[in-house]
Amino acid sequence: MARTGILIDNRWRTSESGRTIDVLAPATGRPFTQIAAAVDADVDAAVKAARQAVESGAWSRLNAAERGRLLLKMAIVVADHAEELAALEAQDTGKPIRQARNDIVAAARYFEFYGGAADKAHGDTIPFLNGHFATTERVPHGVTAHIIPWNYPAQMFPRSVGPALAMGNAVVMKPAEDACQTPLRMAELMVENGFPEGAINMVTGYGHEAGAALSGHPGIDFISFIGSNETGVQIQTAAARNHIGCTLELGGKSAQIVFADADIEAALPVLVNAIVQHAGQTCSAGSRLLVERSAYDRVVGRVAERFAQVRVGTPEMDLDLGPLVSAKQRDRVTGYCGGADADGIPLIAEGQMADGLPAGGFFVRPRLYGPVPRGNRLASEEVFGPVMAVLPFEDEADAIRLANGTPYGLVAGIWTQDGGRALRVGRKMQVGQVFVNCYGAGGGIELPFGGMKKSGHGREKGFDALKEFSAVRTLVIRH
Ligand code: NAD
Repeated sequence: MARTGILIDNRWRTSESGRTIDVLAPATGRPFTQIAAAVDADVDAAVKAARQAVESGAWSRLNAAERGRLLLKMAIVVADHAEELAALEAQDTGKPIRQARNDIVAAARYFEFYGGAADKAHGDTIPFLNGHFATTERVPHGVTAHIIPWNYPAQMFPRSVGPALAMGNAVVMKPAEDACQTPLRMAELMVENGFPEGAINMVTGYGHEAGAALSGHPGIDFISFIGSNETGVQIQTAAARNHIGCTLELGGKSAQIVFADADIEAALPVLVNAIVQHAGQTCSAGSRLLVERSAYDRVVGRVAERFAQVRVGTPEMDLDLGPLVSAKQRDRVTGYCGGADADGIPLIAEGQMADGLPAGGFFVRPRLYGPVPRGNRLASEEVFGPVMAVLPFEDEADAIRLANGTPYGLVAGIWTQDGGRALRVGRKMQVGQVFVNCYGAGGGIELPFGGMKKSGHGREKGFDALKEFSAVRTLVIRH
């Protein structure tokens, strides 16, 4: 079990509010632990601790290699605690235990990647005027704020704080109130394994309280946010008020484009998994299946067969997907399905519910709808659940128009055996990541990840994240 308090200066405490929040297990709908409901005073104390750490504390005295070594050690510690962390993640988020185990492997890899990268983010020397020597260095922002959602807390914790710490920032994280057990446990492990006071601070609580207090705090220097578009607007507004930068990783309505020449048997498991993984509660879920009309019946028929075999269960049953994270999220998804039914959109296939599911769990049956009319909200709005919209397209130009035809721009998948077409279409996608004959939902720790258009801005993951969590200082010496 993870700690239930707030972490400031390597000490756990209760909130100044005296309040706690019950945390529900999505598979049962029943509380299994509590977290503190942090308020302004807690956030203020956390930001001050981080400021002290980055300006004059032990954290500020470590060099890049020493910071890297601490992160690398965490890669081993997380791997050593893999089974405990996976069980916690599965209980907290509801996902099948196998998916939770994969998330812990990814979490360890984030620590490893950013631990190894910490002393490699160097600057440049730049040819300049005669008699001048010009060089750049990357310097930390100072105190960075991190607000993450509930869908992949174990991965998002090191993905967000890893590059920030590698660059020498001190961090304050507010994880999501719906699921934050693994971030709390990993923060505890960081303290036990040598991170000095104030380097990592955790404030749990509601978004409108703790989250708003953190993003609006005048003592922070940068915000990294992952979550909904609506909250993203508030984060960017708060950042603007304090004249600081932010990265926003928001939602998506990602298209998987299947051309008639695609190897459909190879594509099939990937196409379906892209919406089934964590019950579609993935920002880069492949929620739109665009199929070339000449192959529509053949492709959709095979997808429907596969979709009908998808099974919903508890984390321990370890089937294809678990429950949704909360009653709110379940109602949102069933609301979209009700809307599609009312609009007369054909239901092509449904997944199966396992026998013996707990009555209070937030389970929904996965659904495949199509053909979805282009103007329908199912074709353009993010459901954030296991609901896939199928749309036919006529030709290459139509596929590009349709794929780019939503306000979002996170990920696209292209399935074709024509290399020239893959390149032509891929380079027209208004998204941050394009996959050809594969689809990595959020994929690739080493690869830059982030959106275009309303999917946000800034890049997480890979080396690009190190750039986001640092500023360039140019030094010119006349000689
Ligand atoms: P949300 O944006 O409300 O919550 C995400 C995080 O932001 C949480 O930690 C939350 O406490 C915090 N937050 C909420 N309001 C805040 C505020 N005013 N100031 C600062 N922080 C605040 O998202 P949600 O309600 O959990 O989910 C709603 C929708 O968001 C989903 O249906 C989905 O469309 C989208 N979403 C996207 C992702 C993603 O990975 N991009 C993840 C989760 C949810």
